[in-house]
Amino acid sequence: MHRKNEGAVTEYRMTGKLFVLSGPSGAGKGTLREHALNDIPNLKYSISCTTRHPRDGETDGVEYRFITREKFKEGISQNLFLEYAHVHEDFYGTLKQDVVNELNAGKNVLLEIDIQGALQVKAKMPEALLVFVDVPSVEELERRLRNRHTESEESLRVRLKNAIIEREQKDKYDYVIVNDDLENACKELREIFTKS
Ligand code: 5GP
Repeated sequence: MHRKNEGAVTEYRMTGKLFVLSGPSGAGKGTLREHALNDIPNLKYSISCTTRHPRDGETDGVEYRFITREKFKEGISQNLFLEYAHVHEDFYGTLKQDVVNELNAGKNVLLEIDIQGALQVKAKMPEALLVFVDVPSVEELERRLRNRHTESEESLRVRLKNAIIEREQKDKYDYVIVNDDLENACKELREIFTKS
């Protein structure tokens, strides 16, 4: 399922830059994100809302804002989301006001969201820079996901299926980074962020 928020975002002055990181689950987006946030000054991570349950070690307000489906749907009807999507059977979304406030304050903002959300952001904020973090192959992705031990077999299958679909759309991104070597991938990302 894929529903878009319609209408461009007009209430922002865009003094900061907006970066969007996407890619298959298991491509290493989370690790790259952490490195980018440590390395690049003035870069703020936007914490998404989700209806999925926290995993072991996750804290509300840190990795995500964990909210109920009812609350999420309320947010949709009040047009609170810059983008949102139904991913792996749960809802995920970025609060518009969070991003607008940071950009207006001159901060650079980093979103780590799925491809459906990234394309919604690009439609509303064409200046946003989209970076796709890819894996060398689907076989490698499966190996990484299995090693992570965070998913049931069923969830793993869903993630692999989604990854194949997502990889077919990577040419819609401004940049593609293949994460086969973490250090290189971090360097590439840093270059993209700092030269933009
Ligand atoms: P996970 O459940 O593994 O944390 O995330 C699953 C997927 O949801 C990842 O591809 C992640 O990038 C995506 N995601 C996380 N937050 C958001 C969001 O706010 N919006 C959208 N569209 N996708 C998100």
